[in-house]
Amino acid sequence: MKNILLIEDEKNMARFIELELRHESFHIVVAYDGKTGLDLALGEEWDVILLDLMLPGIDGLEVCRKIRATKKTPIIMLTARDSVTDRVFGLDSGADDYIPKPFAIEELLARMRVVFRRQEEQMAGQRSLLMHGELQVDLNARVVSKADQIIELTKREYDLLVKLMKNVNRVLARDMLLDTVWGFEAAVETNVVDVYVRYLRNKIDSPKEPSYIQTVRGIGYVMRK
Ligand code: CA
Repeated sequence: MKNILLIEDEKNMARFIELELRHESFHIVVAYDGKTGLDLALGEEWDVILLDLMLPGIDGLEVCRKIRATKKTPIIMLTARDSVTDRVFGLDSGADDYIPKPFAIEELLARMRVVFRRQEEQMAGQRSLLMHGELQVDLNARVVSKADQIIELTKREYDLLVKLMKNVNRVLARDMLLDTVWGFEAAVETNVVDVYVRYLRNKIDSPKEPSYIQTVRGIGYVMRK
């Protein structure tokens, strides 16, 4: 569950956001002033901080700068003011995004999703992870998992999956797969690729859902986003 810190002094606004986000199954903590918010921001780990600009005590920009001095927690600034200067200020102070009030909750959720996706991509980059839907391949550990359940693959199955996942949206021809995954030992027919794709599908796909691996008739296979 994602941990959200909301720093917002307007009680009605705070309550509204709190209820909506809780409804979306986020864990949310509200601080009603800059000082409390800053302490919470620095003292605990958050997936995103929603930070009002106009706050009693320490204002939003100052809170933002102080968080940025030590932490990379994503910050979305909320503000009633909407001028170019404010926007630049907000982003200069280290905020990841900016949303002018009033806003529809869907808009906030959409921006949060962008922040989470960016975060996940960064983490994936650091850990050299390939991700596709619920599938995840940790290239360093050579571990494949789906929705956090480890999937046991043979070496060939693993190599084939990695090849496909590294080339999302690109159609890979059978003989190309045969060359790269089986290499020179491949005194075999190209239908060995079909056989291994079938093995792989049995292990990674979910019943009643479309296969992760699409067949491109007469050519080969592709994983699509
Ligand atoms: Ca305010």
